[in-house]
Amino acid sequence: MRFCFYRACADGKQKAILDTMSQMPSVQLKPKEDTRIRGGHPWIYDNEIAAINGNPSSGSEVVVRDSRGKQLGYAFFNPASKIQARIFSRTSSRADTAFFIQAFQESLAWRARFFNLEKESFRAVFGEADSVPGLIVDLFNGETASGGRKGRWLSAQFLSLGVDQRKSNIIEALQKVFEPDGIMERSDAPVRKLEGLEDSTGILSGCVPDSIVIEENGLAFSVDLLDGQKTGWFLDQRANRAAAARYAKGRQVADIFCNQGGFGILCAAKGAASVVCVDSSNEALKAVQENADRNACADRVTTLLANAFDQLRTFEKEGRKFGMVILDPPAFAKSRSSIPQAYRGYKEINVRALRLLNKGGILVTCSCSHWFDDALFDKMLLEAAFDCGKRFRTIEERSQDLDHPIVSGYQESRYLKVRIVEVL
Ligand code: SAH
Repeated sequence: MRFCFYRACADGKQKAILDTMSQMPSVQLKPKEDTRIRGGHPWIYDNEIAAINGNPSSGSEVVVRDSRGKQLGYAFFNPASKIQARIFSRTSSRADTAFFIQAFQESLAWRARFFNLEKESFRAVFGEADSVPGLIVDLFNGETASGGRKGRWLSAQFLSLGVDQRKSNIIEALQKVFEPDGIMERSDAPVRKLEGLEDSTGILSGCVPDSIVIEENGLAFSVDLLDGQKTGWFLDQRANRAAAARYAKGRQVADIFCNQGGFGILCAAKGAASVVCVDSSNEALKAVQENADRNACADRVTTLLANAFDQLRTFEKEGRKFGMVILDPPAFAKSRSSIPQAYRGYKEINVRALRLLNKGGILVTCSCSHWFDDALFDKMLLEAAFDCGKRFRTIEERSQDLDHPIVSGYQESRYLKVRIVEVL
């Protein structure tokens, strides 16, 4: 009977009645706002909504419908956010433990094609790009820094109300699929505020050591799961570090915004003559020194605690030249409105870095802000070179590693830009 009624529905109004009857509230879009959603984008902004039917509670599942009542998918509802609904599935109406298990199994199957699941560390869940809006999970295979006990630990960020409310289902599903020794929560990211959430950190299950050692590109790196930046280690640059290090042999390298030395230490291990690592975080630089010791290249690695903008200027004043400069800053553009300011920031560091390079010198330059797209980044780099009277030849144009999948229709998933260029 209900099935007949469902099929008989002709317009959005009747669909809304059905949604109420079937206990599933709905969000109905204004005309033409469905195109982006049909293309794969999972976010519905407050100004795209024509009606909210059935009085959904914050964080609950809602049906998303186009202006004519046609169903587009199921979403987490959050009236406190500008992104009022985040689609988690086009077919499943409930985000329960079984849903998360299936999503995690699919994300694991993708990683299994490119990574050794037992030995390597990788991003296990990349939010919307893995159909779990707002959930970031990094998986670290390694050993405890003290005692050398082997293990697998997860570092998770719950960045939307929908996943925050389903934490216990998610923990259960993570345990089933990834079988970790412990799960750490690192939901101390500013974007939580936009969802109306406070910071939240702590151990969610099992045991999590303060510090672990992981293997990457054949080297050992320490990862501070409790206090390191973001989830503890920037896994997205793994392949880019290896790419950059291929050109490091015999060169004097400056690793600017080095964090724990992911680029610089690998360059040193691959034969760089010297590496100076610059960061404004003292904790990060302590880890650089530990990592240099651990990989037997401390004799060629030095650290400088400084603001990168100032330090680049100081290098220039001192007349220092390098054979390779790596620039991996934090996201300068955190919103659309900050793009012009970010442009100036990126350009300044790139101009200054290029000035430190002679003919044949290599610049490895990155931006991890999705607001600052590839075209803008390339334009900025071209202008930076023009401004300091240099030309360059592009060796490699790169992005994030495959455990941060780029999916069509969701352009925010293409966020990392890396260019390796040689000064002419
Ligand atoms: N290259 C690193 C990741 C860099 S993350 C890797 O391969 O893992 C960005 C780093 O920039 C962080 O470590 C942060 O502490 C540092 N940072 C942020 N603002 C800075 C500034 N103004 N000057 C120097 N370092 C800065």
